Amino acid sequence: MNPSDSQPSNASLADAAPAPHRALYRRWRAQTFGEIVGQEAVVTTLRNAVRTNRLAHGLLFVGPRGTGKTSLARIVAKAINCPNVHDGEPDDTCEACTAIRDGRALDVIEMDAASNNKVDDMRELLERTWTAPSDLKRKVYIVDEVQRIKEGWDVLLKTLEEPPDHVVFIFCTTDASQIRPAVLSRVQRFDFTRLSVEQIAGKLDRILAADGRTAEIQHGFEHAYDPRVTWLEDRWYITWCNGYHGPTIGVGYTFDFETFHQLDNAFLPFNRNGVLFPRRIGGAYAMLSRPSDNGHTAFGDIFYSESPDLVHWGRHRHVMAPEAWTWQSTKIGAGPTPIETPEGWLLIYHGVLTSCNGFVYSMGAALLDLDEPWKVVARGHDYLLSPQVPYEQVGDVPNVVFPCAALVDPASDRITIYYGAADTVTCLAHGYVSEILASLRKESGPQRIHALCEAWRPPG
Ligand SMILES: [Zn+2]
Repeated sequence: MNPSDSQPSNASLADAAPAPHRALYRRWRAQTFGEIVGQEAVVTTLRNAVRTNRLAHGLLFVGPRGTGKTSLARIVAKAINCPNVHDGEPDDTCEACTAIRDGRALDVIEMDAASNNKVDDMRELLERTWTAPSDLKRKVYIVDEVQRIKEGWDVLLKTLEEPPDHVVFIFCTTDASQIRPAVLSRVQRFDFTRLSVEQIAGKLDRILAADGRTAEIQHGFEHAYDPRVTWLEDRWYITWCNGYHGPTIGVGYTFDFETFHQLDNAFLPFNRNGVLFPRRIGGAYAMLSRPSDNGHTAFGDIFYSESPDLVHWGRHRHVMAPEAWTWQSTKIGAGPTPIETPEGWLLIYHGVLTSCNGFVYSMGAALLDLDEPWKVVARGHDYLLSPQVPYEQVGDVPNVVFPCAALVDPASDRITIYYGAADTVTCLAHGYVSEILASLRKESGPQRIHALCEAWRPPG
């Protein structure tokens, strides 16, 4: 995963009931001028126009998507119809305001020009402008994506030349260059700007604060990479290297890979390579991780931690350290979700050696005790795979084989390991669980000393 990909905030949403996006959006749509985030110049001008009763008959809201154009159009509709306007601001509680808010005001006509651009639709729409409003003081036409109108402009222009007193047109567009100059000259134009990160953060804070929650948005670069996915009990959990004043372990879950729920980060910075076990062990959730520093850490051991609720982590245990003079001499980190076998948890992990040309990432295997996984039953002293073909040796980060997922088919004994090569492509490696276990069994004895001697032997 590229670090510049989606960067979740660190909102503590663990306790939030999963709510559809739309509901949240509707619930938090700004209802008054005062609730609009950003667009200060636009809001001030419109509010003054309402206060002094000098609102134009044709308004054009220009700006990117999501800048509040239609929200503000509805607020204008309220402001010119509310009997209790105070300082240009509608009360948002009277019958007119609530009818507009709920979308049941007959005199507020919203249309999307992207789907209604035929001359007949426009003619019908404009014929109705001459009839008096049915329950409000003034009719408000809100036309979204107005630049998409292709055939109705002539009729519209006539109406805009001499509009009835009881009508206000609010045109919204993402592309004003597509609108005819004749129309532009007959409307008052308002330009909406994109919200800054601070403004979005402020808005998010208010939304979360209303539910007694908090959010924190970090500026600039955020770590968001190296995800691991684990099926645990009834859902998919994702752990990844998240950014929170430095890299640490993010935790979230999903049922469908469309809606994601983020829990608190598991640890303080700095930490990487957090991997959940696929079931509770001794009643507790369990995770492997690798405490690190803020850079390209030149050290790293694998640790084990427990949690009763996937939020509070403790009972940390040391699992494994790098091994001098081997492919895993600089640092090691857990790879895919540990695989449960009768002999123990099969852990595929990456190990790094520092060569005269930088880090070299390879993958190896270890076997951890089923009930006390911080105890290493066996450990491979040879790598399973190291960067040896061009796509593993050449890329954004040279000489990297980095395992992050594994699928096992118990019936055929086959294991498929997904690994990143040179931080550029994702690769698959196939093998057999029984063969890896056999090699671990063989290597857990005097073989280790032999391997170390081999590494020491001078050339020739
Ligand atoms: Zn009102």
